[in-house]
Amino acid sequence: MNSVVSRSLVEKPFIDRDKLYGLLDAHEPSPVRLGELLDKALKLGGLELSEVAELLRVESSEGIRRIMEAARLVKQEIYGKRLVLFAPLYVANYCDNNCVYCGFRKANSSLNRVALNLGEVRQEVEALLRQGHKRLLMLMGESEKTTLDYFIETIRTAYSVRVGEQNIRRINVEIAPLTVEDFARLKKENIGTYACFQETYDPVAYKKFHPSGPKSDYEWRLLVMDRAMEGCIDDVGIGALFGLADYRFEVLALIEHARHLEAAFGCGPHTVSVPRLEPAEGAPLASRPPHPVSDEDFKKLVAVIRLALPYTGIILSTRESEELRNELFNYGVSQISAGSRTNPGAYDEDHPESGAQFSLGDHRSLEEVISCLIDQGYVPSFCTGCYRKGRVGADFMDLAKPGLIKAYCLPNALFTFAEYLGDFASQDVRARGMALIRRLAETEVPESRREKTLAELDSIAAGHRDVY
Ligand code: SAM
Ligand code: SF4
Repeated sequence: MNSVVSRSLVEKPFIDRDKLYGLLDAHEPSPVRLGELLDKALKLGGLELSEVAELLRVESSEGIRRIMEAARLVKQEIYGKRLVLFAPLYVANYCDNNCVYCGFRKANSSLNRVALNLGEVRQEVEALLRQGHKRLLMLMGESEKTTLDYFIETIRTAYSVRVGEQNIRRINVEIAPLTVEDFARLKKENIGTYACFQETYDPVAYKKFHPSGPKSDYEWRLLVMDRAMEGCIDDVGIGALFGLADYRFEVLALIEHARHLEAAFGCGPHTVSVPRLEPAEGAPLASRPPHPVSDEDFKKLVAVIRLALPYTGIILSTRESEELRNELFNYGVSQISAGSRTNPGAYDEDHPESGAQFSLGDHRSLEEVISCLIDQGYVPSFCTGCYRKGRVGADFMDLAKPGLIKAYCLPNALFTFAEYLGDFASQDVRARGMALIRRLAETEVPESRREKTLAELDSIAAGHRDVY
């Protein structure tokens, strides 16, 4: 798109550290003021930066309860009972960086390093397809040993794998920042979202925690999404690694980043990820976060992001425990990973062990996660309909904002869930899942779409697949 935007940004970066910390340095809003802010958020138009700062300053338990309740209503209104599921696929753990919190860091000499060959990638994808996954997030460390050419080959391989009728329908990517030209190459591989986390938006903390390697350049990373969009990537995912700096600062910076992308490219981020620092072997800092985020603060920050960016997906990984994940679904999370491993080759049981990036908080299999979601009335979705129909980037947001996405999303989620139940689930999970699908099709699908939805569900029961 327009390269003038990035050049002007290099001269004037969009994160003003003093301004953001300054916004946090004030009193908690009064109960009346909080009511005004939440009324505005409930209109689903998002919040200004200064308003987000006011919410982040709320400390009273009653105030936090009110924020969470508003987030629950927004989540329900926009996303209903859908939760999108995906699996991360780590293809390599070589890394030339030294992020002090990560098990893949160069200085971790005890890590068993691996770059999967294409046969091994195939085996991993087969194992994930056999579990029922349709959406992958492919990742690797940043190393001269594992180039973009290599990564593109792994994407092509993953898309080409078939297990019976099953194949991967969307691959999102999370790799180190690229140039505009390389993003244009990646775009040709039919990827979904490109994600990259700033880790911390505080340039002082950033310098401390990224001491060497290409990742030590704060601005190169800060401007990655500008380059991705200039390289015509439609959907981008931003994030911060919570625990490195004041969580309230990071939330404000994420909002600034989103607003900047909206202003510069007409479309904000498709997703925001909220990883929280987890222990990692060979990375001592990971066990002693400099700014630990309590579970209570974590719930609050997810709720505030949901209110500030109502149409942006919030992604939660298996870093968090089952209990906390279950609660966070209510307050704003819309996508989760399930059955995850962070060591390359780990899905194929015969593959020799390799080193993991960090330890996981939720060890359940995909079916166990799905069984639990059914109990809570959530619909696990493997939907890739929008992306495959070209409803991406600004077009997606234009549809999402007037609420039109709802008319597509719930039926499509029900279809992919019905396919999963028919092809992979145990008898008990299938029976409970089908009962949930019927109930939601009859009560929650807009009336104008109900008859068609029920007919499509019948066709899936009769063996029809990939309905959307
Ligand atoms: N190497 C690329 C990069 O750093 O951008 C690709 C992504 S890296 C494999 C995935 C993400 O894992 C990082 O961006 C970081 O936020 C997260 N991560 C690293 N160490 C972690 C830890 N100890 N706990 C939680 N998340 C961690
Ligand atoms: Fe390498 Fe990414 Fe880990 Fe940093 S976070 S050490 S860049 S894999």
